[in-house]
Amino acid sequence: MAWRYALTIDPVVSDDTRDDFADTFTVIDPAAPALSVGELSTQRGDGIFESIGVIDGHPQEVSAHLERLAHSARLCDLPAPHTGQWRQAVEVAAANCELGEYVIKLILSRGVEHCPAPTAWVTAAPAADFAESRTRGIRVVTLDRGFDSAAAARAPWLLLGAKTLSYAVNMAAIREAKRRGADDALFISSDGIVLEAPTASVILRIDGTYITPAPTGQILHGTTQLSAFEWLRSRGLATEYREVPASDLLKTDAAWLVSSIRLAAPITAIDAVPLANDVEFTAALNAYLLSPRD
Ligand code: PLP
Repeated sequence: MAWRYALTIDPVVSDDTRDDFADTFTVIDPAAPALSVGELSTQRGDGIFESIGVIDGHPQEVSAHLERLAHSARLCDLPAPHTGQWRQAVEVAAANCELGEYVIKLILSRGVEHCPAPTAWVTAAPAADFAESRTRGIRVVTLDRGFDSAAAARAPWLLLGAKTLSYAVNMAAIREAKRRGADDALFISSDGIVLEAPTASVILRIDGTYITPAPTGQILHGTTQLSAFEWLRSRGLATEYREVPASDLLKTDAAWLVSSIRLAAPITAIDAVPLANDVEFTAALNAYLLSPRD
């Protein structure tokens, strides 16, 4: 993947009332080395991020992503991102994307070791081609996340509800899923509650209701799931947030992993038990997710 565009941001904004932040951005060569060797994001994964889909130059659901960035910053004791500044940075990056699908990443890091200031940057790159996942679907296996469903409340330092840069565990789960002959994983808490995938939210259809695990701090609240629920409700379909026991997976007649760049990938098997792929419905959902959304 060739990065198209990159800029660094000075994330410490002293004047809250300004409305132009261009002088806090530095455009950098996306192909050149840019980070200090002391970067705590690379040394410790100590930072947060967002991945925003860009469709034909339009960045999707920017407000929802910026809200989650702010939420992650609160959980990680990072300085609150200035919404106007980050929104402008997203606009600048999107203006440098061409037609087609791109991904803009926002990164806010603890900074460089022994320096007090956080560092931040924004990149834009062409998105991977997910056409096959969106149409033919994906097989998932359930994997124990190793925490019970009360872990987030009992041990907030696990940062389970924050989108941190520490994704090594998530990537290991996907590799394990592939070793088991599947395409992706679905995390289950150690006490048997359905959570999320390593890089996506899950939506299940049971008895005509579209259900997703309640975002109680144990999982990320997905912007794509939020958007999909809005669309489902606008079509008069029932949606529900609730605790989902793993036994409900057997009652599911269709299911999807949803995320900002892959969009809706129908699940065609859970632990090798086949699930129907509702092709027409999935195509309509993806058509909506590909339309401009704010
Ligand atoms: N859950 C996890 C762990 C994720 O990493 C992601 C996205 O990367 C999601 C859920 C879905 O979030 P979104 O729809 O905002 O991309």
